[in-house]
Amino acid sequence: MFVLANVIIDVEVLIIGTLGLKWPYHRYAHTLLIATAVALLWALAAYPLRNLFQYLMNLIRLPYRTTFFKMLLSAVLGAWLHVLIDAIYHYDVRIFWPANTRPLYKLLTHPQLKTLCLAFFAAAFIAYLCIVASNLKQSKADKDKSP
Ligand SMILES: [Zn+2]
Repeated sequence: MFVLANVIIDVEVLIIGTLGLKWPYHRYAHTLLIATAVALLWALAAYPLRNLFQYLMNLIRLPYRTTFFKMLLSAVLGAWLHVLIDAIYHYDVRIFWPANTRPLYKLLTHPQLKTLCLAFFAAAFIAYLCIVASNLKQSKADKDKSP
């Protein structure tokens, strides 16, 4: 939900670019207000597919038991993080629309932002490895207990 919410926010950029509209690429989906609405729609659309998500998460060895609230929270956090990062990186993101301020633009340099994103990725990857290792250890312990 979190990762795909990030992708869904950029569908706006794809549509504006593909249709050749003369708009800035980052419009309404790249605002906290509309990104929240997009995340809500995404959660509503994805909730009926929760068993598919569970299957996919099990393929990558992540335990996954969800509720609508968890899916919504993941979608909102993913959408907001995307908008937050883009607001630092792109001039045309009006994060607090309808206000026209751009308080985050160039808050960090591009190398700083890329380093921060790499640090987040590394932290997420380490967390993933810890979860997988913990699950493998638990599975082995369960196997050793059974006769
Ligand atoms: Zn974006």
